[in-house]
Amino acid sequence: MNQSQIDQLRAADVAQRGHIIDGKSVPASDGATMDVVSPIDGSVLTQVAKGTATDMQAAIASARAAFEDGRWAGQPPAARKKVLLKWADLIEANALELAVLGVRDNGTEINMAIKAEPGSAAGTIRYYAEALDKLYGEIATTSADVLGLIHKEPVGVVGAIIPWNFPMMIGAWKLGPALAMGNSVVLKPAETASLSLMRMVELALEAGLPEGVLNAVTGEGAVVGEAMGLSMDVDVLVFTGSGGTGRRLMEYSAQSNMKRVYLELGGKSPNIIFADAPNLDEAAKVAAGGIFRNSGQVCIAGSRLLVEEAIHDDFVAAVVKAAEAMPVGNPLDMTTAIGAVNSEVQLAANLGFVETAKSEGGEVITGGERILQDTGGSYMAPTVITGVTQEATLTQKEVFGPVLGVTSFADEAEAVRLANATIYGLSGAVWTSNLSRAHRMVKSVRTGVMHVNTYGGADGTVPLGGVGQSGNGHDKSLHAIEKYVNLKTAWIKL
Ligand code: NAD
Repeated sequence: MNQSQIDQLRAADVAQRGHIIDGKSVPASDGATMDVVSPIDGSVLTQVAKGTATDMQAAIASARAAFEDGRWAGQPPAARKKVLLKWADLIEANALELAVLGVRDNGTEINMAIKAEPGSAAGTIRYYAEALDKLYGEIATTSADVLGLIHKEPVGVVGAIIPWNFPMMIGAWKLGPALAMGNSVVLKPAETASLSLMRMVELALEAGLPEGVLNAVTGEGAVVGEAMGLSMDVDVLVFTGSGGTGRRLMEYSAQSNMKRVYLELGGKSPNIIFADAPNLDEAAKVAAGGIFRNSGQVCIAGSRLLVEEAIHDDFVAAVVKAAEAMPVGNPLDMTTAIGAVNSEVQLAANLGFVETAKSEGGEVITGGERILQDTGGSYMAPTVITGVTQEATLTQKEVFGPVLGVTSFADEAEAVRLANATIYGLSGAVWTSNLSRAHRMVKSVRTGVMHVNTYGGADGTVPLGGVGQSGNGHDKSLHAIEKYVNLKTAWIKL
């Protein structure tokens, strides 16, 4: 990737998009569309179909028909593998086009998006394609007069609801294992980031995925997402997004067919710095990157910095220096470290959190404001706020923006208490040279992921999932497959 390649793609016209149902692009049943606004400069990029409940039902019916006639689930594993590998190749071959399209839609800086979006999506799909013919059933340890077999069967129709921060990466986390196991899928991209994911679905068809196996419906969560949640014909619902929507999905399930619901929700992840960290300068730079990349719109963002009292002032100064050295600007410039906030709504919410933090006694050390307004885009300066108490809104509520709250602690016990003082439990980190302390902290901090002397970067070989109100179930790794299979026992009298 170089700047001139990006420049050739950054102003290309973007065609209007319909849903993808039964392998075809179709408009909304009532013809409605919605504008796709770029957070880079506020311009309207194109329009996508604004789906109706009828559209969602048509997509689910298509997925159901495809599942029941076995056009995908019934294929030999080697054949499914071939299609998925080809899909991964096509994503890679079109990586820059996909990444630029996605950045124009959601504002993530291109040097992050190129790896995190098409790069990671292709890798994820390849991982599950490679796995699918290496997963065996089981034979139970029964007495000699019976045979107990445990089959892993696809669940049927999977509904997948995706957020806007990393649509391709998170989409692939669901699509890879779901399709590998033979399911049909209906996808619902986020309102403010659907273009690259829809293009990725087209590439699946190009790779030979049979029509109807993967359908995608754009539109408002409260309309098409709700129709998916309430459907009697969706067997499993997988979701990444906010806690509020996650709660609703559980209610939809209870009101309809009690479909299984797996939720990857928000976080308020503690990044815990002890004075004996191996390299405090490095820790400060990584702490800044761990909250400010993609404008803090990262589920595992280290949004709470817990610093041992003895180094608090120096460490905060180093984080502020690192933050101020990160260029904020047009996400399609390769030198940009922090791109655009996804939408005006999100930016306003971020600024509201800053005002609340101030009113609750927090001190804004850097940032705290909207910048680059003359571009017409949505940009926010990386923000560091000190003096944040355990009860403060900034400790208790996810911002999902470039806002870092800092709290000091006296000793290990207080660090653990503060780390565990929220409803969330997605990610965290501990920085220390003391191996025993590192292991103790990994055990004591209640999260799905703990980093030691680093932040982020865990690859697809390890699971990602939350505890507490950060969700249930896991994406990534072979463990993700459990969501997309039913276990069936055959008990055979010999
Ligand atoms: P959101 O909940 O507003 O939207 C997510 C998706 O849900 C969108 O596709 C939206 O259209 C849909 N939706 C909204 N209302 C719905 C309804 N009533 N019924 C069905 N679907 C509905 O979340 P968001 O703002 O797009 O995403 C940000 C959130 O996602 C943050 O909380 C972030 O932490 C979380 N996230 C978590 C992970 C993880 O792996 N745990 C990863 C990325 C993002």
